[in-house]
Amino acid sequence: MKIYKAHILFTKEKDRFEVYENGYVAVGDDGRVTGVAKNLDELDCDGAEIVDYGDKLLIPAMNDMHVHAPQVHNQGVAMDLELLPWLQNYTFPEESKYADVEYAERMYRRFMHTQWLFGTMRSVVFGTVHTESTRILMKLYQEAGMGALVGKVAMNRNCPDALCEDVDAAVEGNEKLIAEFGGDSHLSPLTSHLSPLVRPIITPRFVPSCTPELLKACGELANKYQLPVQSHLSENVSEIAWVAELEPESKSYGDAYNRYGLFGQTPTIMAHCVWTKGEELELMKRNGVMVAHCPTSNFNLSSGMAPIRSLLDEGVRIGLGSDISGGHDLNMFRMLVYAIQVSKMHYQLNHDKAFLNLSEIFWIATKSAGSFFGKVGSFEPGYEFDALVIDDSVLYPAEYSLLHRLERFIYVGDDRQIVHRFCRGKEVPEPKVD
Ligand SMILES: [Zn+2]
Repeated sequence: MKIYKAHILFTKEKDRFEVYENGYVAVGDDGRVTGVAKNLDELDCDGAEIVDYGDKLLIPAMNDMHVHAPQVHNQGVAMDLELLPWLQNYTFPEESKYADVEYAERMYRRFMHTQWLFGTMRSVVFGTVHTESTRILMKLYQEAGMGALVGKVAMNRNCPDALCEDVDAAVEGNEKLIAEFGGDSHLSPLTSHLSPLVRPIITPRFVPSCTPELLKACGELANKYQLPVQSHLSENVSEIAWVAELEPESKSYGDAYNRYGLFGQTPTIMAHCVWTKGEELELMKRNGVMVAHCPTSNFNLSSGMAPIRSLLDEGVRIGLGSDISGGHDLNMFRMLVYAIQVSKMHYQLNHDKAFLNLSEIFWIATKSAGSFFGKVGSFEPGYEFDALVIDDSVLYPAEYSLLHRLERFIYVGDDRQIVHRFCRGKEVPEPKVD
C-alpha cells in the first residue's frame, strides 16, 4: 500500500467538489483507492509508504472518450471544411497511410506522447481499418501503462478503395485482435478482478461508411465477445439526412445502430449527439448509451452546439472527447473550458437552463466518463487510482483558494504543471517518441 499526501480534489457528486486540504489518499497494491481522509490516523495504513507532495494538487486523471489516433498528423489543419468534404479530402487520405506499419508506429508514438503530456490516462480510440497498425497502437498503450479501448475501424462503403474492407476480412481482423487483447486469459493473478487496461472496442465508423451486412457483423462481434461499441451519432445535419436515405427503415439515426445490436446491447459510446432528440434521445436513455461530447470538433466542422445541459438533466451518461483532428486540441483540461463555453452559448439563446458550472463539467470529465472503464475517475474507496499531481507554483497559488487554484490550472495552465501521472495505481513514465 502507498499513501499520497497533497491537496486532494475530486467530484463524488456532480454538484460539488470534495476538497481535502493537506489530505491523504491510500492506494492498495491492486491500484485501487482504499481510503481518503483529512488525517492520517483515519486511514488503516500500518507500514504504508507515505509520499508527500507538499503544496501540490492531486486530482483524478483525464479521460478522452472520443479520439482518432491516426489523425494526429492532421491536427490543426483543414479547419475550413464541414464534415463530409473534410472526411473525403483530408481524413481518408491520411488514414490510408496506416497500411504502412512503420509510419503508423511513428505517428502513434507521437500521438500517445501528447496524451501523456496532458494527463490523459484513459482513452476510447479509433484506429484505422488496418489490423496490424491497430495492433501496434494497442501494444504501445500496453507498454506505456495507459488505459485504452482501441477500435479497428470497420468501413466498406462511401470510402476510398484503400480503406474499404469486406465483411469477412473485418471480422477476421477483429477476431485476431480480440484473441490477443480481449478475454480473461490476459488477466494476471494480481489483477484478476480487473479487466485488461487495453482492450478492443467494436468500431463501425458511422452508418454511411458501413453496409447493413457490416453493421450486422459488428453487432454480432460485440455480442459474441461482450465487447463495448463506439461510433458517431447525429453530428451534422447533412449527415443525418444521408443516414435517413441509407437506412429508410430506421426510425432515427440511433435506431439504425440499435437494429444491429450496436446501441447499448453492450456498453456503447456515441460521439457528438449534437442533434439527438425525441425518439433517439429516449432510446439512448433506455439503453444507457454514453455521449462523447466533443465541443472543439463541433465548432471546427460547423456541426452545431450539443445541448449538454439538457442531456445531463435528462440523465444521459456523458463524457468529453477531443475528437482530433475534427477537434484541434488533445488537452482535455481545455475541453472542460470549451464545454462550459458551449453551454453558455445555449444559455444566451435560452435562459431557461443554466450553463454548466465547474464541478459539473469536472464530474462529467472524470467520474461520469470514467464509468465507461469501470470504477475510474474518483478517489472514493474502490476506485482505480488514476491521478495527476499538479504543481501550480508558477500560478501564484498562495493568493487563491484550492478550488480557484484548480480552476486557474484548468483555464490557464498546461502540461508543464503536471508533474506526476498515475494510471491504475502505477506512475506512468514518459513514453518514448522519436
Ligand atoms: Zn470522430
